[in-house]
Amino acid sequence: MKVNLLDFDLQGLVAHSATMGERAFRAAQLMRWIHQAGESDFDRMTDLAKSFRAKLADTAEVASLPILSDTTAGDGTRKWLLASGSGNAIETVFIPEVNRGTLCVSSQVGCALECAFCSTGAQGFNRNLSVAEIIGQLWMANRELGAPERRAAAALAKENPERIISNVVMMGMGEPLTNFRNVVTALRIMLDDHAYGLSRRRVTLSTSGVVPEIDRLARECPVALAVSLHAPNDALRDRLVPINKRFPIRELLAACVRYLDYAPREFIMFEYVMLDGVNDSVEQARELVRTVSSVPCKINLIPFNPFPQSGFRRSPPDAVRRFAEVLHSAGLIATTRKTRGDDIDAACGQLAGQVQDRTRRVIRRQGAVH
Ligand code: SAH
Ligand code: SF4
Repeated sequence: MKVNLLDFDLQGLVAHSATMGERAFRAAQLMRWIHQAGESDFDRMTDLAKSFRAKLADTAEVASLPILSDTTAGDGTRKWLLASGSGNAIETVFIPEVNRGTLCVSSQVGCALECAFCSTGAQGFNRNLSVAEIIGQLWMANRELGAPERRAAAALAKENPERIISNVVMMGMGEPLTNFRNVVTALRIMLDDHAYGLSRRRVTLSTSGVVPEIDRLARECPVALAVSLHAPNDALRDRLVPINKRFPIRELLAACVRYLDYAPREFIMFEYVMLDGVNDSVEQARELVRTVSSVPCKINLIPFNPFPQSGFRRSPPDAVRRFAEVLHSAGLIATTRKTRGDDIDAACGQLAGQVQDRTRRVIRRQGAVH
């Protein structure tokens, strides 16, 4: 089987090229061809030696997951469904805005964490994505959006290339910190100047709160951190985000404070999905203010995006406004996330892909397996 070069960060590519007798700067060149020029045909990498190109063609490939569908919403949000094998699929979403373009990347086929309001969680877990499958989403989207051509045209005109994808958020399907190694290698490729050259501030990882891995991320690859809080106290968070039973709010917030010593931004972004009658009262807003008081943070209120059989409703706009007012008057910065792409089920929490659950969740729920 051929080696997929999307699996390698620069260090990996250097080691792999060395096995073919090539020096480190050749690996950097190769990396630029793959990620900046979006090239998958070794023959067209004209400044590499013919013999090296021939060896690569025999032993290696550059391949992202096959595209099953490509849909654009009324607001320009674009969603790709990618085949991840055995009848499963994952989703990647591009969200264009005035001064930036954000790519929302998946890290797993499904998710094992079963948050009550999330359609990915409702589907169960199948497997982790490999490095190539994670970074391949950025590689594919860049190509689909015409970024390599724009880059080449800018180089000819001696201008700085305009980045179509200026930001990446690890907020697609899956819990990125439970696929730690692969996610961190993919993050390194996003940050590498020979690849996408994104600054750490423009790459955000969102986690439901896997505390030990937050500390590990701080040491190994501190990017901007978003934390899915969703509740002001443990009793409610236990119900909404079950991993809270392992890592309760107090431990989670302590990890957030530790992370800030390494983070590229001076605050943690707390995500809070607004569920009608569940976590959206003025009382709960006041409690949230007290809960997060030890952490420099911003709060992102996310209107709940419904999916079949979720059992939750979106908070009415007035409730969101009142909730935000309480936070604002306590001096917190709170923004309300604009819902994007919901007409094509591309909004937060609607990414379902196609997942065959391997955790036998339904049976466990029925109490047959413990
Ligand atoms: N597993 C990670 C990242 C993926 S989810 C995490 O949980 O943080 C990205 C964000 O979308 C999280 O804040 C998640 O809680 C939120 N989300 C999940 N389901 C949602 C829904 N139905 N409506 C709105 N936001 C949702
Ligand atoms: Fe998994 Fe995040 Fe969905 Fe929870 S919200 S089930 S951690 S993807």
